[in-house]
Amino acid sequence: MASQQARQFLDRMHESVWQGMGLVPRPRSTEDDAVTERLIDELLRMRTGLVSPEQLDELRAGLHENEKHLRAMTVSKYENARTLQGLHKMADSVERAGRALGFPVPQRPLLGTLPTGRVNVMTMLVPGTGEHLVLFESEFSGFAYLSAKAVAEVLPFRRTPEGGAAFELEAGKVRERLARHPESARRFGELVRAYLETGVPYNAPQYLQDPVRNTWAQMLCDSVQLFALGHEYGHILKGHLGQQRPAAGLGGPREADPEELAWSNQEEIEADAQGLSLSVAAGQSRGHDLPIGFLGADFYFTMTHVLERAISVLRHGHENVSADATTHPPSVLRRMILRHVLSRQRTPQVDAAIGLGENMEQVVEMLWRDLRPRLVDAYRAGVRPLQRWQD
Ligand SMILES: [Zn+2]
Repeated sequence: MASQQARQFLDRMHESVWQGMGLVPRPRSTEDDAVTERLIDELLRMRTGLVSPEQLDELRAGLHENEKHLRAMTVSKYENARTLQGLHKMADSVERAGRALGFPVPQRPLLGTLPTGRVNVMTMLVPGTGEHLVLFESEFSGFAYLSAKAVAEVLPFRRTPEGGAAFELEAGKVRERLARHPESARRFGELVRAYLETGVPYNAPQYLQDPVRNTWAQMLCDSVQLFALGHEYGHILKGHLGQQRPAAGLGGPREADPEELAWSNQEEIEADAQGLSLSVAAGQSRGHDLPIGFLGADFYFTMTHVLERAISVLRHGHENVSADATTHPPSVLRRMILRHVLSRQRTPQVDAAIGLGENMEQVVEMLWRDLRPRLVDAYRAGVRPLQRWQD
């Protein structure tokens, strides 16, 4: 359990960051409850006919039960109960997987969110203690979900005789679908821009998705987040010390400037390998197979690389990614090393997993080629990313 001191520290940091952005948290309203009810109805409607009536009843009961639980949760006014619940469920899976693999699983760090301006996750120390805080960028999980949804929209799939679905990531097939459905590439671009220009990926125009695509997207999103969290557990498990440095751009409570932990390249690479084994095992316990588990990690870097380039184009008019080599080796290098680590086990499943990652990289490159000129135009028209995004 995280200490009271850690919670108070995070709360004060939230307060100062929100104030710095000129924002105050909006309390939950009855309108939010009504929106949730409508979404549950919509979700059940989309599943009708795909699952048995009993399964549908079970799903309905489960969703309502969860809503009740969420409303009863006491969380800081700066946190979203649903996001926090998701993080803790993931931590349960990662910790269980770690114990099953025989790792000395540490006490759970304080998990939270903050508009950090880092496109993923950062680790901080509670001042004057050795206690870790693992902070996800506030909209990280929303972005993980919507980007998985956006790529699921781009991929052709066919029904298998067993009643499942096989997604096609081969470049030629994807290109054909993109030519027939140019709106799917446009949606991807709208998502990236909404995230970088407003900080809120859900500000991009929303759309309904076929349940088969959506199930796959949710699995991919789950894998991305498990890897992001598994990576942070990797640092703690490996006993990495990192280097404390002022957390740029976060302001922070006046009595103690927040410090973040900056890891060496070697530490990042070790945490990636550790995070991969944790997240794949955690994913398997949630019913995901190894390829989708690996794809989550691979896609995490692929999307990070898109965001880094998009920030650069919107800010400078060109993609000159000056990745700060002292904290994070460029995402492309880490992705390459991750594939290399996995390729040491020569099994057909591993080969399939790596192939999936490589194909996804090509698919996302197609989307990037569509988006890049739009970003250049936006830059020329004076559009800039939010100040807080670090490039
Ligand atoms: Zn790291």
